Amino acid sequence: MSGEAVPGGPVLETAPPYAAPDEAAVRVTAAAAASIPDLDRLITGCRACPRLVAWREEAAAVKRFAYRNETYWGLPVPGFGPADAGVLIVGLAPAAHGGNRTGRMFTGDRSGDVLFAALHRTGYASQAISERIGDGLTLTGLRITAPVHCAPPANKPTTQELRTCAGYLDRELELLAPTVRVAITLGAIGWAALLRVLGDAGWTIPRPRPVFRHAAELVLPHPDGRRLTVLGCYHVSQQNTFTGRLTPAMLDEVLVRSRELAMNTEA
Ligand code: SF4
Repeated sequence: MSGEAVPGGPVLETAPPYAAPDEAAVRVTAAAAASIPDLDRLITGCRACPRLVAWREEAAAVKRFAYRNETYWGLPVPGFGPADAGVLIVGLAPAAHGGNRTGRMFTGDRSGDVLFAALHRTGYASQAISERIGDGLTLTGLRITAPVHCAPPANKPTTQELRTCAGYLDRELELLAPTVRVAITLGAIGWAALLRVLGDAGWTIPRPRPVFRHAAELVLPHPDGRRLTVLGCYHVSQQNTFTGRLTPAMLDEVLVRSRELAMNTEA
C-alpha cells in the first residue's frame, strides 16, 4: 500500500496491482472491502480488464501534449465522496486524460467542470472547481462513482467490462446502504448498469425495465424495507452541454431534487 503521487499531492492510498482473472474474482476482492475507503484503495490495484489496463496505461505514458509535464494517475479511479452519502451519482467511466490523469472522478475535463460547478451551486461541493486529488475539495452528502473504473477507448466500455467491474459498484452500494437513499444516473449506460446491479442485489426492478430519460424518478423497494429513488439525468458530456441538451438549470434541478428526496426518504 502506498500514497500515489499526482500533481497536487499524494493523498490517496493505492493497493498493489492484482490480476483478477474474471468478474467472479472481482466480486471476491470487492467483498473483502470492509469500508468505503478500503474499497477505494482496493479498486486502484485492479487489472482485471486487459483492454482497459492497456488503454489507461498507454494514455498515461503517451499523454496529451497539454499535460506532457504531468504525472498521470494511470490506475483505476475509485469513487469520490463521503462514506455516509445520502446521494450517489453513477456516471460512466473516467476519461483517458481526465480522471485517468488526475485520479478523481469527473476531474480534469470539461464534463467535470460542468458537474462540479453544479455541485457547488447546490451545496454538495466545497468548491466549484475540481482540479485533482489533493486540491482540498470535499463533498458533503453526495458521492460520485462509475460502473467502470478504468478509462475505456472512445469512452465506450464493452458489455463484458461492465459486467467485470460490477462487483465494485455492488459492494459500494452495500457499504453505503445505511445512508444512501437516492442514486443519480448520468446517461443511459449508467442507468442500465445501476439497475442491473440493483436487481442482482435483490432490489425489485419493474418489468419491463424502465428506460432512461432525463428527470425520470424510479422508486425501488428492497425486501428488507429500504427504498432507493433512481433519478435519470443526461450525461454532462460536452456533446450534451455544448448543444444545450443539458443546461446548468436542468442539472441543478436534478441535484436539488436529489437533496429533497434524500432528506425525505425514510430507510
Ligand atoms: S474496469 Fe473495473 S474491473 Fe476492469 S480493470 Fe478497471 S477496475 Fe478492474
